[in-house]
Amino acid sequence: MKYSIYLDNAATTAIEEEVLDAMYPYLTTAYGNPSSLHALGRGTRHGMETARNSIAAHLGVKPSSICFTSGGTESNNMAIAAALRDLHCDHIITSRLEHHSVLNAIDYYAELFKTSISYVAVHEDGTVDHNDLKKMLTEQHARGKKCLVSLMHANNETGMFTEIRWVGALCKKFGAVFHSDCVQTIGHCSLNLSRTGVHLASGSAHKFGGPKGVGILYIQEGLSIRPLIYGGAQERGLRAGTENVAGAVGFAKALELAVKNYPEDYLYISELKHYLVSLLKNEGEGVVINSGRFSLYTILSVSFPKTSRSEGLLLQLDQSGICVSGGAACSGGGSHVIEALGKGQEWVTLRFSFSKWNAKKELDKVVYCIRQALEEKPLVEKINCQR
Ligand code: PLP
Repeated sequence: MKYSIYLDNAATTAIEEEVLDAMYPYLTTAYGNPSSLHALGRGTRHGMETARNSIAAHLGVKPSSICFTSGGTESNNMAIAAALRDLHCDHIITSRLEHHSVLNAIDYYAELFKTSISYVAVHEDGTVDHNDLKKMLTEQHARGKKCLVSLMHANNETGMFTEIRWVGALCKKFGAVFHSDCVQTIGHCSLNLSRTGVHLASGSAHKFGGPKGVGILYIQEGLSIRPLIYGGAQERGLRAGTENVAGAVGFAKALELAVKNYPEDYLYISELKHYLVSLLKNEGEGVVINSGRFSLYTILSVSFPKTSRSEGLLLQLDQSGICVSGGAACSGGGSHVIEALGKGQEWVTLRFSFSKWNAKKELDKVVYCIRQALEEKPLVEKINCQR
């Protein structure tokens, strides 16, 4: 696979060397099943529990509130199923900007449990309309309904934040269960979950330098929920199946590094994002920045007026060795988020998402390629950047 510039870090990131090193023993010598009582099993159990303790400490919660899963998708499904089935929520409030692993799980479980759904209004910039959320909770509460509120911490396409502490406080007032998809923020923000008021929160390791196929669901202490996947008694009976020990260890190491490097990475990556915004703003009147002031520093969404030239932008960049995306990696073209924000057919949207491995000179090249594509110049030669 040949590429020169990777700006799709919200889709997935490269695994860190140190993370690989931490995982390696659990893929080779320390291969015991953590449920086995012998020494090899006890060794991997220890690795698993050390990872859980470390993750919990970094998120400001108790180790017993961390359940390992196969990733953000499973965590979101588990949270929504549990809220309707075990926590007896009989109305769901969410937004049309959520990830498909939330939207489609809500559709499925709402039908299964005959639960009604409301979609909270969002402002033009992609932030949740607080007044509308308050109104919805007030109305449903007056009807005797117990709500599940599922709102993501930062949107994976625009990076726009939801003020989860405010939402958490509101949910508390109305006795609602609050789930937040924190897949784009765990590992990218300093986040103390116990201070947010969330009851359930999802995270995924591959978004911040960890391995694919491992996630967590934070389950607030005292909530009694049942598993999504039935079988053995792993994860205190909450998630059956032999544990992905190397994955759990990788999650913990990646989070440890992310927290340690956060101040430096935040400054460096924010600077890259601002730099790209300034370059793109020079590219003409029509360019619209969808990631406003309250957006995550790692994500920049930009829309270009649709023309015969801009339509092929993504492909042209790809042919120049530049990896960006049109939206979520799993949406397979078209973006329900950008459409919900009113930028449908007439716009072409690109999502740039950064890591500490990117450099300003890469961004210069990306903007040069965009200009070439929009001006319908012949394709630039494959560019090569030292990373
Ligand atoms: N939620 C959000 C906001 C995401 O960006 C993603 C990944 O694209 C997911 C959930 C799904 O996570 P995973 O790939 O770990 O299943």
